[in-house]
Amino acid sequence: MIETARQIKDVLADRSFIFRAGAWKPRTSPNTFQGVGEEALSWLQEVKASYGIDVATEVATPEHVKLALEAGMDYLWIGARTSANPIALQEISKAIGDRLRLTEHRSASPDRTQTELPLKGILIKNPVNADSGLWLGNIERLEKTGVPVIAVHRGCNHQPCWGMAHAVRKARPDIPMLLDPSHMSGDAAKVPALLSKVDELGLDGAMIEVHYHPEEALSDAKQQIRPEDLTAALTEHRPLTLTDRFADRLELNWLRAEIDELDERLWTTIAARMDVSKRIGEWKKEHGVAPLQPQRYQEILNKLTIKNEELKKDGIVLSEEFMKNVWELIHEESLRQQI
Ligand code: PEP
Ligand code: MN
Repeated sequence: MIETARQIKDVLADRSFIFRAGAWKPRTSPNTFQGVGEEALSWLQEVKASYGIDVATEVATPEHVKLALEAGMDYLWIGARTSANPIALQEISKAIGDRLRLTEHRSASPDRTQTELPLKGILIKNPVNADSGLWLGNIERLEKTGVPVIAVHRGCNHQPCWGMAHAVRKARPDIPMLLDPSHMSGDAAKVPALLSKVDELGLDGAMIEVHYHPEEALSDAKQQIRPEDLTAALTEHRPLTLTDRFADRLELNWLRAEIDELDERLWTTIAARMDVSKRIGEWKKEHGVAPLQPQRYQEILNKLTIKNEELKKDGIVLSEEFMKNVWELIHEESLRQQI
């Protein structure tokens, strides 16, 4: 960790940045690396003292808050899994507020034996589920501490969730928003291209996972870039024209990002559907059933009429013919996959 910090400081030189490292890692499986724990906070202190940079760590419980603030973290961050849990957020917010008030009280007294606990900001990732209301609610919960809050768009399941981020940006344009291309893609190769979205969408910065030797990283190895690739990633892949960067184009850029996200989901869904089709094809072959079943075919066509009506109730008017044409195309390809 300290070697990574040294190399980042070296390549970023005068750029302003915060160095973050997770002492406690919320992992999917209990059988993987869970973080070093409290001991790692002293390594962060060493980074702060040696390189004069602000440091941050992830907190998921009030106990983490206590330890992180005592260790002099400049920023705290709330991970995507914790951000899906409003009760945890309430407790963390309360713990931060209580400790800061305690510090104020101590520093106001003549006997200032205790060290001060300044906190420059709290970063909050979007919840793992694409719920803009919950993300906004959590921002509000954290604001009760009086500490500036910064939103971090990390996407959902290695996919951007531009729709959710756009909603939060519109509701709270006063809250800075960072892009986390590393968790958004889960793929180091995709990080530079995703970074162009910072300019394109008028975001306030990025959170990028870096490791001086990614192959040895104990978590998220596939998405870590090397310090020496950081400057290139930050300056390359900016295909936008100057006009695109004008503020009045931002809304269009956001809407295009939403469209790209939906197209991406459409294709992923179609691909998943073809895969299920193939498995149905195998089952039919095994059981001597013909690929085209007229009764099932009619059933699905009827469902389209019902869906068309449902959409109308939500104010979305699509021609039934359009829906049938799209479905016919998909169905034709499904049959082809079954043969
Ligand atoms: C992280 O930032 O390293 C992390 C674990 O991210 P997330 O909470 O977004 O999964
Ligand atoms: Mn990570």
